[in-house]
Amino acid sequence: MTNYVKDHIPKGTACNRRPGNVLLLQTITIHNTGNPSSTAKNERAWLTNPTNNRTASYHIVVDEHGAIECLPLNENAWHAGDGSGVASGNRTSIGMELCESGNYAKTLNNAVELVAAMLKERGWQVDRLRRHYDWSGKICPRKMYNGGKWSGWNMFKERVAARLQSIKEEENMMKPADANKIIAFLSAAHGLAQDKASRDEAHRLANELRKASGQKEQ
Ligand SMILES: [Zn+2]
Repeated sequence: MTNYVKDHIPKGTACNRRPGNVLLLQTITIHNTGNPSSTAKNERAWLTNPTNNRTASYHIVVDEHGAIECLPLNENAWHAGDGSGVASGNRTSIGMELCESGNYAKTLNNAVELVAAMLKERGWQVDRLRRHYDWSGKICPRKMYNGGKWSGWNMFKERVAARLQSIKEEENMMKPADANKIIAFLSAAHGLAQDKASRDEAHRLANELRKASGQKEQ
């Protein structure tokens, strides 16, 4: 994620858009804005626009340029359309709006990256992802609906799962600097070795370390 900005709407924002209830966090809910021209900045500005008279809000808006966090992630927003019960999406889920403006492929890339990082941070898998549709039956995120097949939604979850896996693999990989320190010891041993078998073994082990740290074998 290249760009993540926190720009919270004030407590007491009109129409109870920042109610301040503790978010009983269980899931992350994905939406589309339903507005082809509105950017993340526009969506954030709308939440504090004096002409906005709707009790509706969301935690994060993502567009082609990055993401804006509009409400703290430990407070609830009104995005799921399913009331205020303690098990509702509104009380248990982070609401993330995907903008439809500009380069939507880039927006999707940003969303995949951000959602994967958020799942990783919480030790979660993609079974923690929800559509707005799952809470209230609204056709949202509409750009993943595909006439009821929801193939875009399934593809989004697959992409997030793949990114989550690659984040974990990158994390488990040995750091090249550490590998190279150990290789320096091995090369000293290589220099001291009396026989070819010992030298070959030191060489083999050095290459194992190079592979484990994503470096070229030698
Ligand atoms: Zn929605």
